[in-house]
Amino acid sequence: MLSMLCALCGCGAPQPVHREHFAMGTVAGITVYNTRHAQYIDECFTLLNELEAEVSINVPESTISRLNEAGSAQLGGETDAAKILLAADRVYTESGGAFNAGILPLQQLWDIGGRSDGDPLPADDDIEQARQLSLGGFDIGQSGDTVSIKLGEGHGLDLGGIAKGYAGDRCADLLKERGVKHALINIGGNVRTVGGREFRIGLRNPRGTADELYAVVTVGETNVITSGDYERYFTTGGERYHHIFDPDTGRPARSGLLSATVIGGDGAIADGLSTAIFVLGRDEGLALAEGMGYEAVVVADDYKVYCTGGIADALEITDDKFELVSP
Ligand code: AMP
Ligand code: MG
Repeated sequence: MLSMLCALCGCGAPQPVHREHFAMGTVAGITVYNTRHAQYIDECFTLLNELEAEVSINVPESTISRLNEAGSAQLGGETDAAKILLAADRVYTESGGAFNAGILPLQQLWDIGGRSDGDPLPADDDIEQARQLSLGGFDIGQSGDTVSIKLGEGHGLDLGGIAKGYAGDRCADLLKERGVKHALINIGGNVRTVGGREFRIGLRNPRGTADELYAVVTVGETNVITSGDYERYFTTGGERYHHIFDPDTGRPARSGLLSATVIGGDGAIADGLSTAIFVLGRDEGLALAEGMGYEAVVVADDYKVYCTGGIADALEITDDKFELVSP
């Protein structure tokens, strides 16, 4: 009787459970494949809230807001803020400053999310002044268990280009500690898979709606993290002004890409890299990913798709407006 009941209610076969939650300025969705693990999704959402409270520049009491205010900080090496800052510093160096967490002055000046279509642009002088304040990254040093950070006068940090990737790894670690074997974590389009099975992850059409894909990539346990010019933007004079800044110009990056996806092990690095590749463009961007041991897929503005050699076989174009140019 018991076994029949189980067959009827399906409790012998694990059922996927998916829940969503707004955190870190975006919608986070987590799927586990066993109803008994649903409670751990809620633990992940609590963790995301905690991370947001620690690193968001929109939370006045966060560690990063206080660092921006004070100009310096000493953090425990095991804190999330310190770990994200160390990753940010690494991607800054490897990308020659294309990824620069110090772009807060530019981010505040442009206020992409706060502008509407047709709004005037910031003045050239103001852009140049904010750009100068964004250059140089930040000083970071580690001594024993203490990480020291120092900012230049008027400089400020924004970890929006790297924190979600870090958060994906933290959620994955939490789920694994609880014994979860397989899970899919999606933080605003940045995907972290858990478990050795095959996951087919959709890559979003950068000129379509949120559920329109241009490709599917088949991966194991990894991060699949995308930066694109469609996430936040406004349009003025027929031009799109989006949220990823080129530190060389102080303006939204115009590298000929519509999106850059990075696939690989460390979430924070993959996230920082996706932003860097979007700034650097196709050739420099793909070379940077390969040099750091990551795979990448980019969509150019003529809808041609380029990727690193290691991911080509796992990539399937699903929309025939897009064309994969073999690496
Ligand atoms: P992502 O979607 O990961 O590319 O992150 C975009 C966010 O990163 C923006 O909303 C900014 O907060 C921040 N950002 C923009 N430009 C840069 C840059 N060149 N380097 C680092 N972070 C940036
Ligand atoms: Mg990023």
